[in-house]
Amino acid sequence: MTSTMTSTKRSSFGEEFMNNFKNRNPGEIEFHQAVHEVTESLLNFIEDNPKYKNAKILERMSEPERIIIFRVPWVDDKGEIQVNRGYRVEMNSAIGPYKGGLRFHPTVNLSILKFLAFEQVFKNSLTTLPMGGGKGGSDFDPKQKTDGEVMRFCQSFMTELSKHIGPNTDVPAGDIGVGGREIGFLFGQYKRLRNEFTGVLTGKGREWGGSLIRPEATGYGTVYFADEMLRTRNDSFKGKIVTVSGSGNVAQFTTEKVNELGGKVVTLSDSSGFIHDPDGIDAEKLKFVMRLKNIKRGRIEEYAKKFGAEYYANERPWKIKCDVALPCATQNEINKQEAELLIKNGCICVSEGANMPSTPDAVDVYLKNKILYGPGKAANAGGVSVSGLEMSQNSLRMSWTREEVDGHLKRIMQDIHTTCVKYGKTKDGFINYMDGANIGGFVKVAEAMLAQGLV
Ligand code: NDP
Repeated sequence: MTSTMTSTKRSSFGEEFMNNFKNRNPGEIEFHQAVHEVTESLLNFIEDNPKYKNAKILERMSEPERIIIFRVPWVDDKGEIQVNRGYRVEMNSAIGPYKGGLRFHPTVNLSILKFLAFEQVFKNSLTTLPMGGGKGGSDFDPKQKTDGEVMRFCQSFMTELSKHIGPNTDVPAGDIGVGGREIGFLFGQYKRLRNEFTGVLTGKGREWGGSLIRPEATGYGTVYFADEMLRTRNDSFKGKIVTVSGSGNVAQFTTEKVNELGGKVVTLSDSSGFIHDPDGIDAEKLKFVMRLKNIKRGRIEEYAKKFGAEYYANERPWKIKCDVALPCATQNEINKQEAELLIKNGCICVSEGANMPSTPDAVDVYLKNKILYGPGKAANAGGVSVSGLEMSQNSLRMSWTREEVDGHLKRIMQDIHTTCVKYGKTKDGFINYMDGANIGGFVKVAEAMLAQGLV
């Protein structure tokens, strides 16, 4: 009787909260998805800790502290004026300056950036470093643009953004479509406008304040996290067949680390299709991918032509048999049917390099089958962790060695794993990493918000 009453109360709080939230943010489906997932994980916890409910912490956390939307006019190589839209969502600064990447991609809109900023709050909290959460970007597409066009766009974008960021206020980084080239142009323009050399962006080049291991960090971290999960079942990457999606920054260094730990990566993809190389993408082949994607800016199909691998146009890699799947491209790239196919083919572990790559019903399939599932906000937190370490090195005006940074990264990923186990272990011993990450990430931010009064 009591338990039925309690669960009814719980579900009505959840329903009421979600209804209000959706009414306030109509049509923002990705944002709804991210907040719904967290709410589901937190319902019991919040009911058991009424101080959070009474202070409306969840209501406050799902409302951005500030959103900046601005016009980005620039001139292309033909002398024609182009207009894009720029954004920065400053979600939560309870535990540190806003921190999170910039995404340049034609699909960018407010819903996607609000979901990413919301996720970032929990992720940054999990890292144990003092960083709040934010995200930004533009609907600008860097593909097929010349370096000159990308530079002029970045300069115009930063001309407005520079008014709202700073090393103690908001510190952006890269994400889809924003790599070393873009960070360089953005940093150069900030320095010129403000006349100060400061750690206002992370992911900078080594020679001008960047940290060793930052480019590698998200991919390496995703694999370290998967390795920790495998260890809980006395297993490892040795001899494992691994499918990876994407072929950008995260996918490249995920592949490198899997190879190092003795696994074999057999797929990579981009937005046009995927390649399947049953012999494995070894160090030499990966070098080719890095040149293809980072310098030549070509399509993954060229890999298939070069190495005689199979190419599947307009398809995703999840039908390929694997032991471990590491989605490293974009949101909602594994649906329910694909998740079922992964399980049917013997997949025992999914660790998310991308943000929210699995749809909610795909996650249900993982949890129902009790495989090892590491959600993005835990598994891909290595990138922002090393960004945090880059901020520390900038403040100290020092740079740490590769081994030092990699050591910190490994330790942080292990700590995140421990937090997930602490909050996510169920009575039968199964670890629900999603609940663990959501509750573990929530507590620190919620406590800081309570301490800081009505903020
Ligand atoms: P990149 O731009 O370097 O690479 C993105 C890759 O994903 C490319 O291969 C791209 O293909 C593919 N991709 C992008 N959009 C789509 C789409 N709609 N459908 C299919 N494929 C797509 O970005 P990153 O590697 O930095 O980011 C990948 C993921 O990792 C994102 O979800 C990002 O949010 C997440 N992440 C990144 C971090 C970082 O430090 N960089 C930190 C934490 C998470 P194409 O070339 O055709 O566009």
